[in-house]
Amino acid sequence: MKANTGKTKPAASLRSRLISLPRKGQTVLITGGAGFLGSALCSFYMEQETRVICLDDLSTGRMRNIDHFLESPNFTFVKQDVADPFDPEDGIDFIFNMACPASPVKYQADPIKTFRTIVAGSENMLRLAQRKGARILEASTSEIYGDPEVSPQIESYRGSVNTMGPRSCYDEGKRAAETLFHEYCAQNGVDARVARIFNTYGPGMDPEDGRVVSNFLVQALKGAPLTIYGDGKQTRSFCYVDDMIAGLVSLMHAEGDMSGPVNLGNPGEFTVIELARIVLEETGSDSPLEMRPLPVDDPKLRCPEIQRAREELGWEPTVALREGLRLSIPYFASEIAIEGRSQKVVER
Ligand code: UDP
Repeated sequence: MKANTGKTKPAASLRSRLISLPRKGQTVLITGGAGFLGSALCSFYMEQETRVICLDDLSTGRMRNIDHFLESPNFTFVKQDVADPFDPEDGIDFIFNMACPASPVKYQADPIKTFRTIVAGSENMLRLAQRKGARILEASTSEIYGDPEVSPQIESYRGSVNTMGPRSCYDEGKRAAETLFHEYCAQNGVDARVARIFNTYGPGMDPEDGRVVSNFLVQALKGAPLTIYGDGKQTRSFCYVDDMIAGLVSLMHAEGDMSGPVNLGNPGEFTVIELARIVLEETGSDSPLEMRPLPVDDPKLRCPEIQRAREELGWEPTVALREGLRLSIPYFASEIAIEGRSQKVVER
């Protein structure tokens, strides 16, 4: 099954006057290419007939996200850790550095490996970009704002982050990676771009990823209680996958100087309780809500200020939450139905 099974297509949201997509024969390297967003990027570039190298150690990525590409001469899969040496003979024109588990429950499973994946992996890919003369985009994150004291979060906000907590390996790793991207751009002239990705959902997500949207959809579809952490008043802003891919592609291929971070996310802000109610309405489920303890350092607010992306990329999300959930429900229902898959929901 293709990663994007929704009705919209990332290409439909692209403003071509601002970007120039790769020419035929050019090569895009996507680290973490078997993951949720990485595989959606693979799909986008395979549709453009670009050559794609997908690098993934499959620690959280899934072969089923990419196995339909394996026969294509345009597609190469390399199973390896992003931090290990990688020096292909062929040219590389663009690198998306997407490799790292993004779900708290997954990135906290081995925090030292997570930190190394982000920091050593970023430096490895920046060196590769320098050697190949490639443009490189880092998948940074809204997590670099930590538990923010200002909302919405604008790129100039420096964040409120714990250096020694359960989320630190990811948050501080991504902050360090942003520093590396900044220095490789300033000192070494690498064309480096940084996307701060806010919560994203949709077809292609691992139903066992432990994220709130995937947990609630799976729980609602199975008639199991929806697990609300804390009082459920914390907020998140949820971006549909095709919108996010359009944003990432726009940032990668925007002409001119795009150094400095760019927030990509949907500014529609919902409490976790509101999300639960909307999921119940959209799935027609009568699952109860079940309160659980709030994880340590769980951010109370998260909402992107996307003025820079609007002005400089001509990008903004086009899919509202209810519509995105409707596009996602058939995918999660089919994932649940696949025989042999456990139907566990990963909880903290
Ligand atoms: N959450 C929840 N129930 C779940 C999973 C998550 O209430 O089953 C909450 C979590 O505590 C957080 C929000 O939903 O406040 C988003 O969590 P997620 O893991 O999706 O991403 P985060 O934004 O924390 O990285």
